[in-house]
Amino acid sequence: MLSATAWPASAVRIAKGEAVTFAHPTKQLSRAFCAGCGETLFGTNRLDMRVVPNALVARASGGVLPGNLSPTMHLFYRHRIIDVSDALTKYLEGWDGPELSQ
Ligand SMILES: [Zn+2]
Repeated sequence: MLSATAWPASAVRIAKGEAVTFAHPTKQLSRAFCAGCGETLFGTNRLDMRVVPNALVARASGGVLPGNLSPTMHLFYRHRIIDVSDALTKYLEGWDGPELSQ
């Protein structure tokens, strides 16, 4: 499971250091890592959104995820290993696709 937020590419920038980016060989996806330590910085999805791990944001915010970044949906729910019991919308794939039917 990955808890993350997705942002327009223009809203995410690297403030310090450099990134190394690897493109997926067949899908329209890439992932950027810190060139200094290898930390995952963000992925870029097929919609050109930058997907930033919440754990990274929390570490940069004193160890706590800011409240305005609370989860709003589940993505790729078709691939789940466990069922999640909450009121959030569960998209079977991306947010532009079908939802889990109740
Ligand atoms: Zn680093």
